[in-house]
Amino acid sequence: DPNIEMTPTGDDVSFDEYLRPRRFEEFVGQRAIKDNLRVMVKSAKMRQAPLDHILFSGPPGLGKTSMAQILAEEMGVNIHITSGPALEKKGDLAGILTSLEKGEILFIDEVHRLSPVVEENLYPAMEDFYFDIVIGEGPHARNMKLTLPPFTLVGATTRSGLLTAPMRDRFGYVARLDYYDADDLKSVLQRSARILDIGLSERGAFEIARRSRGTPRIANRLLNRVRDYAVVGNHSTIDDELADYALERLEVDSAGFDYLDRLYLDALVVKFGGGPTGLDTLASSIGEARHTIEEVIEPYLLQQGFIQRTPRGRVASASAFRHLGVPINSGNQN
Ligand code: ATP
Repeated sequence: DPNIEMTPTGDDVSFDEYLRPRRFEEFVGQRAIKDNLRVMVKSAKMRQAPLDHILFSGPPGLGKTSMAQILAEEMGVNIHITSGPALEKKGDLAGILTSLEKGEILFIDEVHRLSPVVEENLYPAMEDFYFDIVIGEGPHARNMKLTLPPFTLVGATTRSGLLTAPMRDRFGYVARLDYYDADDLKSVLQRSARILDIGLSERGAFEIARRSRGTPRIANRLLNRVRDYAVVGNHSTIDDELADYALERLEVDSAGFDYLDRLYLDALVVKFGGGPTGLDTLASSIGEARHTIEEVIEPYLLQQGFIQRTPRGRVASASAFRHLGVPINSGNQN
């Protein structure tokens, strides 16, 4: 069941919640998006109107949920959190929409996984703040429009390309969150270390940052794991040497690739000679679901230039061969 994969363990939930930025000032990086959202919030407050609907897209762990919560905090409104797969039936949507009060935020994670019937019923709610209900059955059935208080829909999706065009068009602002650079991740780690009261040197922070796959959530997790090595080894501060030692043991390699990344690269480079290889072939070869590959593994490898998506399939680049220490044979030069 794909829903189970998306549910973090109890530990991770509290850890993520604990480190979650609460205000714009605490949210590191993504400057352009933050600036736009600040203006939207300010304008909405001056007009005493709800925020326009906003869509966040980008790989997991880049701060979509955090940003949605910051918007609620900055607007001074409640946020109701649900997800695409949780809203199975029209009635589920009706229930949550009618519980909203004026100006409140409805956050739908994985908004690309809404069922078609729920999505259709969401359109008039987003556009004109009403909901169609049918009263009675058979020849006496009547359609009624239920008026909703103006609210803000904040959607999150790992890939905006998976959203239907009519859905995408109904958002007033689409923010594409990008991978963080090492400097921003260093700031994320320094903030987390302060909150968790962990000693972390500048170079220690940088070492973890550059191996965090451009992702704040991963940076925080690695910090937590490296801290274990610091505690057990009786180090008061995490420096680059300790970070490197711990990350080696945690099987995070020098490029920040984890076990799954390497499994994928190994299949593409070694087993399939660098490709082109179809997604389904790769998926069954490494025993992972298509969507995990497309939404979790590949985006970072693409961004780092290790693979390419071509019409004929996935192709490994020279840097992928180099990273695995596999010579490029003449037939597979990309
Ligand atoms: P998913 O879609 O997988 O839930 P997400 O994009 O919604 O991921 P969040 O849950 O918002 O990601 O972020 C994960 C964690 O990473 C947060 O708890 C927070 O600690 C940290 N984080 C994310 N972005 C930032 C940021 N810009 N500044 C500081 N911390 C951040």
